[in-house]
Amino acid sequence: MFKENLQTLARQHLLRELSLINSPSAPVISVEGREVLQFASNDYLGLTNHPQVKDAAMKAIEKFGVGSGASRLISGNITPHYALEAELAKFKDTEAALTFSSGYTTNIGVIPSLATTDSLIFADRLCHASLIDGCRLSRATLRVFHHNDVNHLKRLLAKPRSRTSTLILTEGVFSMDGDVAPLPEIAALAKECGATLLIDDAHGTGVMGANGRGTVEHFGLDSPHILQMGTLSKALGASGGFIAGPKDFVAYLINTSRSFIYTTAPPPAIAAAASVALAILQQEPQRRIKLWRNREFLHNGLVAMGFQLTDTQSPILPIMVNDPELGIQMSRHLRAEGVWIPAVRPPTVPKGTSRLRITVTADHSLEQLEIALRALRKVGTALKVL
Ligand SMILES: *Cc1c(COP(=O)(O)O)cnc(C)c1O
Repeated sequence: MFKENLQTLARQHLLRELSLINSPSAPVISVEGREVLQFASNDYLGLTNHPQVKDAAMKAIEKFGVGSGASRLISGNITPHYALEAELAKFKDTEAALTFSSGYTTNIGVIPSLATTDSLIFADRLCHASLIDGCRLSRATLRVFHHNDVNHLKRLLAKPRSRTSTLILTEGVFSMDGDVAPLPEIAALAKECGATLLIDDAHGTGVMGANGRGTVEHFGLDSPHILQMGTLSKALGASGGFIAGPKDFVAYLINTSRSFIYTTAPPPAIAAAASVALAILQQEPQRRIKLWRNREFLHNGLVAMGFQLTDTQSPILPIMVNDPELGIQMSRHLRAEGVWIPAVRPPTVPKGTSRLRITVTADHSLEQLEIALRALRKVGTALKVL
């Protein structure tokens, strides 16, 4: 059965295979023994290789060991976790924050604590799989609104709701399209109808807003009542996820969130590294400035060449090719040119919307961006995408 299913996937150009990387996440990586220039990492600010971040992890290993030994509620609540959560709350301008082992487990843990069988959840159609899985685990009734369509959400919310609680889910920056949610309108709607708003800001944290605090800062929203989810694994260069919000809500999660309770606490060294990354993110705004400069340069270059991009407003620059086979071909040709840009295909994105997903970081040099543009022009022309 597995074999047949895999063959079917291969025929549809939807088979996925792992590539072996033997280097840190940096602009140049070693894939299957060959060095390539990569545009596929979410380490937007280059913090995963920052000497101080690495040093913090090593020092914390010396002091606390590698593993945390138990779950947070048993004996795994170690100083670095506690410190990081206080810093995250301050950074996100909320009363409290709680960290989880990953962004994925944050979403699947938080949503069932917010919504139950008799709740209603309204989610953007392009919400990340972790949000959808969180909805499924909650057993609430899920209503999907068209992507970034506030009027559709409004129409859905206007229908009679006899349910006990209402939750609205969106991403701040959408992970596969790079566009930004109309948060002021969504937040106003949520307030109007007494719904809770949860924003997954995995790609907004460290990237959006004057101080990198995320899309809530970008829009200047009043944050105390908005629940903001983020990851430590993207711009913060570490690993793990978090949620920021009111104190009582965090206390409630500690009591109810299964993916928080029933798992071993994340390694203390990772929390210590994330703390230092968070401090650097705030002390070195030049990283974010460089990230955006790189993003503008690459975006302008791609648009000038005539590539069809999404309505992106972030360092995620997806080139739409729609057909998965063309996506794979383009990615393969680019790799032969020494440039690593993966094709993203269904089910990660809706059918007929396969794309080459470029992410640019602060660590890319202008010269590297030019190399990528040249390779993209060559391959785009050869495969008649341009
Ligand atoms: C990456 C991502 C997650 C999951 O975060 P991890 O820390 O990688 O588990 C959740 N939501 C969105 C939108 C993401 O892009």
